[in-house]
Amino acid sequence: MVSANPPVKRASVHTLGCRLNQSESVLLREKLEADGYRIVPFGEEAELGIINTCTVTNLADAKCRNAIRSFIRKNPRAFTAVVGCYSQMGHKAIAEIPGVDLVIGNQDKLSVLDHVGFGKNETPVIVRDRIDKTDFTIRFAGELPFKKRANLKVQDGCDFMCSFCIIPFARGRARARDFANLVDEARSLAERGVRELVLTGVNIGTYDHGGRGILEVVDALNGVPGIDRLRISSIEPTTIPEELFCRMRDPEHALLPFFHIPLQSGCDRILGEMRRKYSVSEYLDFIHLARDSVSDLCIGTDIMVGFPGETAGEFDETCRVFRENPFAYCHVFTFSEREGTPAERMDGAVPVPERARRSAFLRRLSAGRRHDYYEQHLGRTMRVLFEDPKPGLWTGYTDNYIRVVVDAESVPAGTGNLTNRTAEVRLEKISADFVEGRLE
Ligand code: SF4
Repeated sequence: MVSANPPVKRASVHTLGCRLNQSESVLLREKLEADGYRIVPFGEEAELGIINTCTVTNLADAKCRNAIRSFIRKNPRAFTAVVGCYSQMGHKAIAEIPGVDLVIGNQDKLSVLDHVGFGKNETPVIVRDRIDKTDFTIRFAGELPFKKRANLKVQDGCDFMCSFCIIPFARGRARARDFANLVDEARSLAERGVRELVLTGVNIGTYDHGGRGILEVVDALNGVPGIDRLRISSIEPTTIPEELFCRMRDPEHALLPFFHIPLQSGCDRILGEMRRKYSVSEYLDFIHLARDSVSDLCIGTDIMVGFPGETAGEFDETCRVFRENPFAYCHVFTFSEREGTPAERMDGAVPVPERARRSAFLRRLSAGRRHDYYEQHLGRTMRVLFEDPKPGLWTGYTDNYIRVVVDAESVPAGTGNLTNRTAEVRLEKISADFVEGRLE
């Protein structure tokens, strides 16, 4: 007998770039499921593909083009929609890729389903509206089970105009998500099993919705039943209220002892050229104050190497600043010329092989620093929130962002499923980029 039901449409969503993009892709997946699609992994056959793009560097653009071509090669008859930052800035280049049906910039990316057609478009449709300057709400489906930590978008855009950065053009001016709307989504996520929220945005320290700032956000989310942990993903120096320290210290508050604060360079001259808003000493004063105020605080940073005019001595200075201060790790970014930014036109380009050398050197320093940070915690018992298991292993993070792995065979019988549960774990041994532990 032939079923009267139409076949379920399959869709896949591929995400490039930052945590903010990841949080928006989750919203897209929820909308797709609510609309009757079955989500399949990227690379499998699908009737609809959405590629959520990034344009932070030229390399990011190239990766996006590869992902688009790869999807179309495997799914030549599928409807292919390309959304996000690269769509905003590079819509012409994307529209030239044979097989692309739809290109949507950041303003309308979450409404992509309104533009998805049946069958392929003869020529790509481009939707690239001006990005609103006003605060925003997000319609979230709120129906799917969700049992991990989740990103919560609280803010978008940036007004800081750092000279190397295209993001203010790709994502528009700084604006805040409606306060009640973000708390509603947090409640919905908690009801679906989420225990940890990671607050995301482009420049979340500038959050301001009707006079309520980031402090009010963390306090409101702290009051959401079921949410045990709040982590701020990345926050610009000069935007961080010191009042966050007492929340991090308070055992009754869900805000975790974790800061990721981009430094970008340890040299004041380069910071000036980058149009960053602080000096090295101001930055360091702040992180020392934070470290002295909050015990077990994890401080991570971003550093950019090979900025135009960066001399070998200035790079060494950055390495010295990183080495001599209380960082747990750094994410290293290699400068690449970004069309439309002031840094693209600056003199003194550092040769590309030298940029790669500096980048590799700093990455090695960071790996060593992470090892030292982990070592400082060996022998201690710390609270871990476990996530999805790997075969034979339970994995999770401590409050201060140490990745912990527990051998399933060492777990006492009767403990049951640890996913999404917190447990006290004794940290015993460093292995690769995690710490092996034992349940206490
Ligand atoms: S603070 Fe600077 S680097 Fe960060 S998004 Fe804004 S302009 Fe870009």
